[in-house]
Amino acid sequence: MSHSSATATPVVDRPALRDNPYNPRAGLKIWMDGQLVPAHEARISVFDHALLYGDGCFEGIRVYNGRIWKEKEHLDRFRLSLKAIELDIGMSLDEVAVAMREALAANGLTGDGYIRLLATRGVGSLGISVKHTANPSVIVIADTIALYPPQLYETGLSCIISSYIRNHPNSASPRVKSLNYLNNIMAKLDAAENGADEAIMLNHLGYVAEGTGDNLFRVRAGELFTPPTSDGILAGITRAHVMELARGAGYPLHVQSMIRQDLYEADEVFLTGTAAEIISVVQVDHRLVGDGKPGPVTARLKQLFRESIDAA
Ligand code: PMP
Repeated sequence: MSHSSATATPVVDRPALRDNPYNPRAGLKIWMDGQLVPAHEARISVFDHALLYGDGCFEGIRVYNGRIWKEKEHLDRFRLSLKAIELDIGMSLDEVAVAMREALAANGLTGDGYIRLLATRGVGSLGISVKHTANPSVIVIADTIALYPPQLYETGLSCIISSYIRNHPNSASPRVKSLNYLNNIMAKLDAAENGADEAIMLNHLGYVAEGTGDNLFRVRAGELFTPPTSDGILAGITRAHVMELARGAGYPLHVQSMIRQDLYEADEVFLTGTAAEIISVVQVDHRLVGDGKPGPVTARLKQLFRESIDAA
């Protein structure tokens, strides 16, 4: 078999190529650089630095009752991420907002859904420099999502504290929602390999930072605690909303650093994120949190969260 053959019969037989584990919903259309294309035709170049180096940014956004939840906040964080990595996508945020609506409409998402908005660095030569890249891609995937299996919302998650730490403040900041999630993926692998549902990551000083894709709160004697963004976390939009709900409900709320032991001593621990919403953590490093069941403060906040969505 000639390697120069254009209509290649595969030279190397790779079963993984035949056994695609993810098939997007039939008929799913992707908004890609101004076009709506069928999911199987939505492709980026192998020379895009998003693929080569994880060079790009993203947002994960919920749609409730046909409305884009916290749209302004997501667009603003997207803007700040793009600014931090000096990526000019050649589109205004208003145009991005229109693209998201087009993607929702093209997929008939008039109820609940999930938007993955991303921007790639664009195509360039095989060096990491951005100087020789061009044509960043903006992509909007509008679909539905269920992050954790529903029964985990009833039972709560078991977590380990991973030995993979959150990025040092002088490395790419955890506040930038970049396409480079390898650090978090390593922690998530660590959790799975240790029989846990999720990993909690510490920062370079040993303080608790966050989950691999969610922010963290703990409850102690009816008071709420969450780490400050300066401890190396994403400034979560759900976190900010839950803080507002907690204050409104009269819970004392402390934004302060915490250590591993604080989690062991907590009455309740929960994670927040756009996809996860609010989910209890009932075990940390094989120790039960409280009595090992989702707690009442978390339940109350979940209820307030639901109500705030229905009222929006
Ligand atoms: N931390 C990380 C690392 C995340 O990726 C996310 C988003 N999935 C969050 C926290 C939660 O942020 P948000 O509530 O804005 O979705």
